[in-house]
Amino acid sequence: MSDLVLVLNCGSSSIKYQLLHADSAQVRASGLVEKIGEAHGGRVVHECGEQKLVHEGPIPDHRAGLRQAFEMFRATGIDLTTAGIGAVGHRVVHGGEVFWQPTLITGEVLRTIRELSVLAPLHNPANAIGIESTSELLPGIPEVAVFDTAFFHTLPEAARTYAIDAKIAAAHGVRRYGFHGTSHEYVSEKAAEYLGRPTSELNQIIFHLGNGASASAVRGGLAIDTTMGMTPLEGLVMGTRPGDLDPGIMPHLMNVAGLDLPAVEQLLNRDSGIKGLSGVNDFRELQQLIEGGDAQAKLAFDVYIHQLRRYLGAYLVELGTVDTIVFTAGVGENSPAVRAAALAGLTGLGIDVDNARNETRAPGVRRISPDSAPVAVLVVPTNEELAIARAADELVNS
Ligand code: AMP
Repeated sequence: MSDLVLVLNCGSSSIKYQLLHADSAQVRASGLVEKIGEAHGGRVVHECGEQKLVHEGPIPDHRAGLRQAFEMFRATGIDLTTAGIGAVGHRVVHGGEVFWQPTLITGEVLRTIRELSVLAPLHNPANAIGIESTSELLPGIPEVAVFDTAFFHTLPEAARTYAIDAKIAAAHGVRRYGFHGTSHEYVSEKAAEYLGRPTSELNQIIFHLGNGASASAVRGGLAIDTTMGMTPLEGLVMGTRPGDLDPGIMPHLMNVAGLDLPAVEQLLNRDSGIKGLSGVNDFRELQQLIEGGDAQAKLAFDVYIHQLRRYLGAYLVELGTVDTIVFTAGVGENSPAVRAAALAGLTGLGIDVDNARNETRAPGVRRISPDSAPVAVLVVPTNEELAIARAADELVNS
């Protein structure tokens, strides 16, 4: 069977897609559909080799977005219905307690993904619509769901349990699930490969620092803790999300500040984190503000690093010893300032960063600690699309 896989990541108002070969990792085409369902700003950007096509105009729903993307595939010489696609791989955010393996999508699986929307109301409905639309547009091609929560199904009970009324928690699925699992798993394997050791021998701390951010502690290839919780709001400070908050802040905002539930949700998902503190959520802009002497931007950076180091400390203790610390995703791969600040002053713990290595940009996996340091600090580019493509391909072709 063909190793050509169409990978789809359907968000609430966007679709990211990539057509790639699972074996060679060669990307045939990729694109982004934005502002689905919005009156203005609808846009599809499609890239295929040297060709870049842009479509602008309203995109009423996900089906229309996919249709438009498929049109653009055709315009660049690829008819998806006859291209020989072996599988479609869908990133699905929440697998709840039901799914932790890549799963062939059937009517029953799709129904369950929909039911899990109570745990991920912003994400699972969009994932389900994406699956449904693809089944209509590409009938007969096997579809596989790869779950963002899957890698964390090994969390020990103490790490996944919230200390609230146990009956309420059990009745409503209130527990830590963790997210970004596909990325954490992929980079932990890449790090092991780079070090020439099996994952089963390694204790790793992974920092996935993108617009969303999470950390994990991984022992012998299995996740033993992670910062995101029942939802992707907990843990590290992020571009627009706050990370850990005193839960008492919520009733305070509602009872004293007069915010209603939608306003609190808007605050927590879109107006907090780096953006809430500094006005910008992109680390490149934050860096520029800091260089210009902006005190709020500097504070945002310091809060971000403070929170990150709290988890670094926690995971060092949980693991006992650590072989490698890995930075990945937009900020983790591209911000030497974040990496240096995150690990400053830890030489006594065997953790050190070589300034020249840290500042040097290079593709692929690289080591930024001195060769003599006991802990290998690595930058590992993540590739969730490739991980999803390989999982889908393996399930369909094995
Ligand atoms: P991701 O969610 O992994 O795509 O990461 C997106 C984020 O990475 C952006 O919002 C930026 O904050 C950050 N980023 C991307 N490129 C750079 C860069 N060259 N320097 C610093 N931060 C970057």
